[in-house]
Amino acid sequence: MTEHIVVVGGGTGGTVLVNNLADRLAREIDAGDVRVTLVNDGPDHIYKPVWLYVPFDESEPEDGRRPLSQLVDDRIDLRIDRVVDLDTEAQRLRYESGASVGYDRLVLATGSTLAPDEIPGLETGGHDYYSEAGATALRDELISMTEGHLVLSVIGTPHMCPAAPLEFVFMADDWFRERGLREGIDITYTYPIQRVHGNPHIAEWARPLMDERDIDVETFFNAETVDPEAGTLTSMEGAELDYDLLVSIPPHRGIDLVEEAGLGDDGWVDVDKHTLEATAAENVYALGDTAATGVPNAGSVAHYQAGVVARRLASEVRGRPATATYDGKTLCFVETGMDAASFVEFDYENPPSPAPPSQKLHWSKLAYNESYWLTARGLL
Ligand SMILES: Cc1cc2nc3c(=O)[nH]c(=O)nc-3n(C[C@H](O)[C@H](O)[C@H](O)COP(=O)(O)OP(=O)(O)OC[C@H]3O[C@@H](n4cnc5c(N)ncnc54)[C@H](O)[C@@H]3O)c2cc1C
Repeated sequence: MTEHIVVVGGGTGGTVLVNNLADRLAREIDAGDVRVTLVNDGPDHIYKPVWLYVPFDESEPEDGRRPLSQLVDDRIDLRIDRVVDLDTEAQRLRYESGASVGYDRLVLATGSTLAPDEIPGLETGGHDYYSEAGATALRDELISMTEGHLVLSVIGTPHMCPAAPLEFVFMADDWFRERGLREGIDITYTYPIQRVHGNPHIAEWARPLMDERDIDVETFFNAETVDPEAGTLTSMEGAELDYDLLVSIPPHRGIDLVEEAGLGDDGWVDVDKHTLEATAAENVYALGDTAATGVPNAGSVAHYQAGVVARRLASEVRGRPATATYDGKTLCFVETGMDAASFVEFDYENPPSPAPPSQKLHWSKLAYNESYWLTARGLL
């Protein structure tokens, strides 16, 4: 009997995983003992880190898009469809197109969903660079901004790439300075807890840099409403900020399907943080943003977790106990301006210690972004 592995989500985690499986289980797939299906709700693979550069006119949205068919190994069945129903008892899922399919092992790699509608006024009053359309619209606003107040508000956690809001204000500061406009532009950064980043070590490192650059900070600021007419953002704590340009990191959720299937709250799958197995169902793994491990929602995390899940699945298919585990490894380059970056690496046991910013690290980040397409193919 052919064992069917279904991977839902063809983003970073899902794509790296299936290419790893194609390599690892080549013999079993060729013999017809194993079939691997990747389901994604669109034909393209999206590399989201490119969006950070779009508002500053340093990248085009298309730089972050490639057809999945070009990235996924021929041994994988690629299905462009949306999974709309999941029954983990019967081990079946249903596609939007109507068909239903059984699985022996399931991996959810469905990423994050933006929920700007949770904040009244945000959809019309705010901009973002956490979507392709948002980053493109923000570019127009930023290019035409010559004076006024730019507010970047992080609204709720977890959100994708915890470093990206810091990167944005550091880059905006530098970009406006280079163009001789910074004196006429105030920049304010708001964060929901009592420091500028969720991780205390990164917060401690970033705060003095923000002070040096005259980036105003409002901590313990949980955005509640936006008034686009008046140009104001108010917080649950009772603060009010006037803005000329509001850039938000909108609230994030997982997908509804996860909650409907009883796998976790707010669309995030409850998992064992070492094995990445779902706690509420048999034969289900989750990885990347959708897996509630407590580590950042980052592509590097999805990449490392994909390697662990691939090794576990290969062991299980071969009837051996799965021993591979995820140690919380996270790696991230952090832009500190238009031509300098820092670097952090940490795991469940070892906290981050940001490297001194340098041009070399900035170029390393850009080089990684270019070579990402090899990573997605499983070649790096
Ligand atoms: C502006 C920005 C900058 C970033 N910079 C960095 C960075 O520098 N470094 C870093 O490590 N990370 C960065 N990230 C974060 C990184 O992009 C994400 O953490 C990463 O993409 C998560 O991978 P994933 O596989 O979990 O989800 P995704 O890559 O989001 O993929 C999920 C896929 O699942 C599909 N899907 C969802 N639901 C269904 C369904 N029901 N049926 C079928 N398909 C479905 C989606 O369409 C999508 O293709 C950044 C993110 C943003 C927004």
